[in-house]
Amino acid sequence: MTEKMILDGSRVAGEMKETLKGRVEALAAAGTTPCLATILVGDDPASETYVRMKGNACRRLGIESRRIHLDRGTTTGQLTEAIRTLNDDPLVHGILLQHPVPRHIDERAAFEAIAIGKDVDGVTALGFAQNAFGFAAYPSCTPAAILAILDYYRIPIEGKHAVVVGRSPILGKPVSLMLLNRNATVTTCHSKTSDLPGLLRQADIVVAAVGRPRFIQGDWIREGAVVLDAGYNEGNVGDVDYDACLARASAITPVPAGVGPVTIAMLLKHTVDAAEKAAATAGR
Ligand code: NAP
Repeated sequence: MTEKMILDGSRVAGEMKETLKGRVEALAAAGTTPCLATILVGDDPASETYVRMKGNACRRLGIESRRIHLDRGTTTGQLTEAIRTLNDDPLVHGILLQHPVPRHIDERAAFEAIAIGKDVDGVTALGFAQNAFGFAAYPSCTPAAILAILDYYRIPIEGKHAVVVGRSPILGKPVSLMLLNRNATVTTCHSKTSDLPGLLRQADIVVAAVGRPRFIQGDWIREGAVVLDAGYNEGNVGDVDYDACLARASAITPVPAGVGPVTIAMLLKHTVDAAEKAAATAGR
């Protein structure tokens, strides 16, 4: 039997945060406290949990977490105004608008209101385009986390066939582009894809970004494939049928403690990167 590798996201995130500690301390000594502003619109319990987790992770590292909670009835105009106020605030280095926003809000317009220098989750069209070209300062955090896990475990990407299931602008599309930029051959699948199991059976690397619990079946996975599960569904389950996929995969991320913690660590890293840039510009 081939040896299985469980890709431990908590370990990857722990090492990333350890490195960030020293950078946060150096910034503090020079008079800058990195600050991430998170905006939550409405009262979706899952979104509230995500925002709270991000705030706690910031505080544990000495990063200020400024939380803006707007009520459910907030208009697109009021939301973009709140974002512009944060753009203009020199004490804020990163802005994260928690997705999804209530349906009446034009989410794209809200994302576009975020200044590129504070777009630490790569949600703006410009941030997305920079990522596509391969020079984004802040690529979308979950895709960047997936690449960081592959790199941490020295899993080769070049020349491999990666099949990404999902094409959302924050996950499936950017991770497809990042894998392509690293010389993988990429197939991006979605709800209209024909013969998804057949395509997955050709994959060396599988990225699950579907938003449907235990959707990817074990017999869709080729023996020895690497499986990265970005999914996070109610009941702490991912988008892959973990036990069945583990039986076929050579390496797999668990849920929880896989992609999730690295996504948060990536957000912290991008916030510290942005704070360092702001401090360097102010010192000029
Ligand atoms: P999303 O915007 O709902 O996109 C889901 C994608 O899956 C869509 O492109 C959709 O295709 C595709 N899809 C749906 N049903 C399918 C099917 N039967 N066959 C093939 N493709 C199908 O979701 P998202 O925001 O990208 O999130 C995806 C998952 O990642 C969720 O579980 C979410 O909770 C998780 N997530 C995790 C993190 C983290 O930090 N770990 C961060 C963000 C999201 P169409 O485009 O055709 O509709």
